[in-house]
Amino acid sequence: MVQKNLIDGEWIAGSEAFRNINPSDTNDVVGEYARASAEDARAAIAAAKAAFPAWSRSGILERHAILRKTADEILARKDELGKLLSREEGKTLAEGIGETVRAGQIFDFFAGECLRLAGEVLPSARPNIGVEITREPVGVVGIITPWNFPIAIPAWKIAPALCYGNTVVFKPAELVPGSSWAIVDILHRAGLPKGVLNLVMGKGSVVGQAMLDSPDIHAITFTGSTGTGKRVALASVEHNRKYQLEMGGKNPFVVLDDADLNVAVEAAVNSAFFSTGQRCTASSRLIVTEGIHDRFVAAMGERMKGLVIDDALKAGTQIGPVVDESQLNQDTDYIAIGRQEGAKLAFGGELLKRDTPGFYLQPALFTEATNAMRISREEIFGPVASVIRVKDYDEALTVANDTPFGLSSGIATTSLKHATHFKRNAEAGMVMVNLPTAGVDFHVPFGGRKGSSHGSREQGRYAAEFYTTVKTAYTLA
Ligand code: NDP
Repeated sequence: MVQKNLIDGEWIAGSEAFRNINPSDTNDVVGEYARASAEDARAAIAAAKAAFPAWSRSGILERHAILRKTADEILARKDELGKLLSREEGKTLAEGIGETVRAGQIFDFFAGECLRLAGEVLPSARPNIGVEITREPVGVVGIITPWNFPIAIPAWKIAPALCYGNTVVFKPAELVPGSSWAIVDILHRAGLPKGVLNLVMGKGSVVGQAMLDSPDIHAITFTGSTGTGKRVALASVEHNRKYQLEMGGKNPFVVLDDADLNVAVEAAVNSAFFSTGQRCTASSRLIVTEGIHDRFVAAMGERMKGLVIDDALKAGTQIGPVVDESQLNQDTDYIAIGRQEGAKLAFGGELLKRDTPGFYLQPALFTEATNAMRISREEIFGPVASVIRVKDYDEALTVANDTPFGLSSGIATTSLKHATHFKRNAEAGMVMVNLPTAGVDFHVPFGGRKGSSHGSREQGRYAAEFYTTVKTAYTLA
């Protein structure tokens, strides 16, 4: 059965369909999904535009109930939805279930936020005049998401968009339509009026582009590559629309001489290789001071030997496959580039054979890398990390900040002085002390600086900044 697109409250088949393939076993077809056309995208935008006046004035209890019901169903079905996610994306079952729970928590959080909408009342600078400051929805919000968090990223964009009274046109990544279809189905059954949330699965170059080109989309929130992010920005400037971009990272993880070695190794392995290194918050630059360097590299090697890389759904798997062939080629190309640049491939980097045909890659660790190498400057988005040796904390901080990106930044140290200094001086949106660079909470701001992000933060109460626009009203008493 082909899973359809949702346009103006109707499930629409369209004329084409595409297959969702399991990267752990390419013989396993997860499902077939309708491929929307540019015309479907325009119909979805028109439906969202028509639904906006009523939804923007809907009562907070109606919105609360729908978001709350959605949270409850996602959490009740976490094992099944987590399995679907792991099957289509390739992260381990534990990671898939964890991400699904996070999506449920996000809907729960924004169900609560509907009940906490508030403004401000101030005296005017002039006598006998009152001033009210309120937040209003922006209008039709376009949501474009990547493949690496198939349920959490759609959740953290859709939930606040609906909470604050916007209507939505949602285009998930073509590689992983299953989890997105599932949450749209849940929201639809939870009672959303027709046209409030529209799903258009299909090619970015067709469906996504039709969204970018439409004057009727008032805000676009995008997570994905830097190249596509720039297209979103340019098209949004053309239409004078609000836009928010979350793009790549080249996140540093600093290890100082005084670090607890076990804490440092666990955090580094998690940062660099868990979720197959396919997290925008992954660390691919391990910046290590010379007093601990050799012990750290040896301990990383021992730890990496024990990692279980296999089918995402198998019990005991710690690292699943790479998402698809083109990403695998990108990873192996960068491993070749690192060698050519003179870094030493200390561990891993080999293609692996397992019981089923899949995109299995042994995590790779380079040593003797410099921060000028391409493997240290460009986002690889796979299980490939490099160790960069530095003299001391000052050099570590300089190297950590010497990157076009600024999403997440981590340090392993037992020194309060260095931890405090690093928190203040790391040029990143998120800083981790003795923790992996990836792995964030659902109720606090998420986002970066420099080339990693544009616009206000996602998640938590800070999401209101993007999904609302402020009105100031003056009344003569
Ligand atoms: P892409 O930028 O290729 O795709 C992201 C989304 O944009 C997909 O839905 C894609 O559609 C769509 N798209 C592609 N072309 C267009 C277009 N012309 N107009 C509108 N939409 C378009 O990135 P990936 O999904 O391949 O994700 C990997 C990259 O994203 C990495 O570089 C990673 O760092 C970054 N990323 C950043 C995150 C962050 O929070 N900072 C989080 C996750 C990923 P289609 O399905 O057809 O590809």
